[in-house]
Amino acid sequence: MSATPGMQTYLRHLEQLKAEGHPLTTLPCPCCEQSIETAAAPPGEVWDTLTDCPHCEAVFLLITEGQRARGVRPS
Ligand SMILES: [Zn+2]
Repeated sequence: MSATPGMQTYLRHLEQLKAEGHPLTTLPCPCCEQSIETAAAPPGEVWDTLTDCPHCEAVFLLITEGQRARGVRPS
């Protein structure tokens, strides 16, 4: 496999979340629009974090509101 280091980290992170039984949600990358899985936030909580896309490596702001997640490109 020729996965990038970013993709390897992403896949390891997802495996860990799944092993812990953490709820996941999916969002399209704001740059390449490929789907990205991420941890869902507890109901009523909003998380925002700077992250990078495992597909295209673009850096964007990930906003997770409960089960809904979206990505915002930095302007
Ligand atoms: Zn992307």
